[in-house]
Amino acid sequence: MLAALKSERVVDMSDMEMQLEAAPQENREGRPYLGSVAFYKHVILFCVFLLFVLLTGTVIFFSAHYVSLKKDYAAVCEEYRTVSQERDDYKKQFAAAAAESGRVLKDETSKTDVVRGDFSIPFHADPEDWRYLLINEAHPLNPEYTVKLAPTRNGQFVDQRIVYQLEKMIDDAAKEGYSLIICSSYRDYERQNELQKESISQYMDKGLSYHDAFFRVKRTLALTGTSEHHTGLSVDIVGEDYQCLDEEQAKRPEAIWLAEHCAEYGFVVRYDRGKEDITGMDYESWHFRYVGKEAAAFMEEYDLCLEEFSDMVEFFHRPDEGE
Ligand SMILES: [Zn+2]
Repeated sequence: MLAALKSERVVDMSDMEMQLEAAPQENREGRPYLGSVAFYKHVILFCVFLLFVLLTGTVIFFSAHYVSLKKDYAAVCEEYRTVSQERDDYKKQFAAAAAESGRVLKDETSKTDVVRGDFSIPFHADPEDWRYLLINEAHPLNPEYTVKLAPTRNGQFVDQRIVYQLEKMIDDAAKEGYSLIICSSYRDYERQNELQKESISQYMDKGLSYHDAFFRVKRTLALTGTSEHHTGLSVDIVGEDYQCLDEEQAKRPEAIWLAEHCAEYGFVVRYDRGKEDITGMDYESWHFRYVGKEAAAFMEEYDLCLEEFSDMVEFFHRPDEGE
């Protein structure tokens, strides 16, 4: 009996041992992976890895962006340095040429009757004259500048002092069969800003970077504060039949008539062909600036843009003693 019990216990013990031995086997193979300790370990490891990748990616992205912005900024600075240098060089060259070949003749009746080589300014030219006001990137408009505007017949606004000559030019063109339209005139800073933003985003939509778009636009649309349109002294004029402001415009009969006759009314093609490096603007056959009949005729005769004329007026201007 005792031997039987012993053997039963032996059997029980050996069953239990077998069960105990089998237990880990069941854990490893029987339990599902989902929800196991190993599973959670792997999830945590994966999350840590994901976080690491995200952080590294963010750091790399912003570093690259920073480097590109820095590059853009350096390019803008370089462009500005080049422009300033070119302007200074031009001024020096002009002064040297004038000093070499020119002489100032002091007339009894005029402050600035000047002879410089073959150049002469045969009329009273005062640098402070409102008609010679120079507006460009290097000479932004004084924010205090005020203008008395008057409407033209087609609802545009210009400096009231130029309305008569402007409408006379348009009327005379009509008599010769050219139908002219003023498509742009006075613009305040806000309007110029809007146009600038629109043009920049149009170029960016075509794939240009902000930097490239900005410099592309700057050649065709003066930056806010440096546009002649703020003065009311400039207008964009096109023929009624073709109103696009593009290269084709210059070939239109209306543009040809205007280029030939505008000086008779005191206007000049402000951003002329061949003067792009001086004006800083692309050729615009449609942009006319009022400078008065004398200056317009003089500038046309000697092929001077307003920057050149303005330099001459400044350079040769000698206030009479006692004034
Ligand atoms: Zn214009």
